[in-house]
Amino acid sequence: MEKHYDYLLVGAGLYNGVFAYFAKKAGKSCLVIDKRAHLGGNIYCEEIEGIQVHKYGAHIFHTSDKRVWNFVNSLCEFNRYTNSPIANYHGEIYNMPFNMNTFNKLWGVVTPAEAKAKIDSQRALAAAEPKNLEEQAISLVGDDIYRKLIKGYTEKQWGRDCKDLPAFIIKRLPVRFIYDNNYFNDKYQGIPEDGYNVLVEKLFEGCDVRLSCDFLANREELTALADKIIYTGPIDAYYGYSEGELSYRSLRFETETLDCKDYQGNAVVNYTDRETPYTRIIEHKHFAFGTQEKTVITREYPSDWKQGMEPYYPVNDEKNQALYQKYAEKAAGEKNVIFGGRLGEYKYYDMDKVIASAFNLVEKELHTTVS
Ligand code: UDP
Repeated sequence: MEKHYDYLLVGAGLYNGVFAYFAKKAGKSCLVIDKRAHLGGNIYCEEIEGIQVHKYGAHIFHTSDKRVWNFVNSLCEFNRYTNSPIANYHGEIYNMPFNMNTFNKLWGVVTPAEAKAKIDSQRALAAAEPKNLEEQAISLVGDDIYRKLIKGYTEKQWGRDCKDLPAFIIKRLPVRFIYDNNYFNDKYQGIPEDGYNVLVEKLFEGCDVRLSCDFLANREELTALADKIIYTGPIDAYYGYSEGELSYRSLRFETETLDCKDYQGNAVVNYTDRETPYTRIIEHKHFAFGTQEKTVITREYPSDWKQGMEPYYPVNDEKNQALYQKYAEKAAGEKNVIFGGRLGEYKYYDMDKVIASAFNLVEKELHTTVS
């Protein structure tokens, strides 16, 4: 007879990894399955020319949650990488996020007061209560920055006009009136010294694993293997799209190995004009201060999502949120299935938020305290 498990973990990303780690400690057995041929979900890295290549886009760990930071550091060593992307607008280079370096380059202003005055003068026309991303952006940083550094990038990224996008997306970016190019406001930041796979291996240690295994295609047989399921795939797919399809954005990555030591002098360069078809170029070695002879770069092309493609980003606008609520109600009625992670909860989660959400499940489900 086939082995029976306490939990079937569908999807080998961070959410299930964290759960698996604590489940093992609590003496529970887990079988983790994934459609892909590797563990780690979107944080998976592939080593090329001695460089950890972030296969599914740049993943920079940042958090203000001490519990989360202590947890990941208990599993592996993090480096001191600080994300400070450069924006390239038709060959003009600006510092990101929006800060005094950006304002100085754009307008020649030197002091925070001068920068604020400049933005205020451009903001005069902005709506009092921003209803969409365009209004929100202009109200935060004014019209010049909106046109050069936000509009093109955002419309490529989301495939829609900024007027049709929710305001919250742009609030992810800090606006600072100091000379500080650190992209994140969080207290802690870094990347695992030896790549994310080390972290992933530790999380799933002790689990049985089946790779290249599609849950939805073998649902009955797999469901019978465990008392409970933790499902981290798209929630609408789980229910056969019965209420309708949720919207996602997808990405296409084009990776190249180049015979040079340094291609762009920075890990992340955003292309903020509309004409360049990709949104950014990642040069992976810079995430780890690499000194290899060669370099590996990845161009990131946003794309529409259709069934069968990777759903990287949920589109959390009102229409999709309302649809998600219907699925969430169905999910709440399930006794033996738990939904989690970016796709299971249809939420634009960062890695640390996924971990915190998994901690909540651990405490509820396993009755253990995450310290
Ligand atoms: N964004 C922008 N210009 C940039 C970088 C980001 O306008 O150069 C906006 C864009 O709307 C994007 C949002 O900020 O969708 C969030 O960007 P972030 O870098 O957080 O996206 P992620 O890393 O999650 O893909």
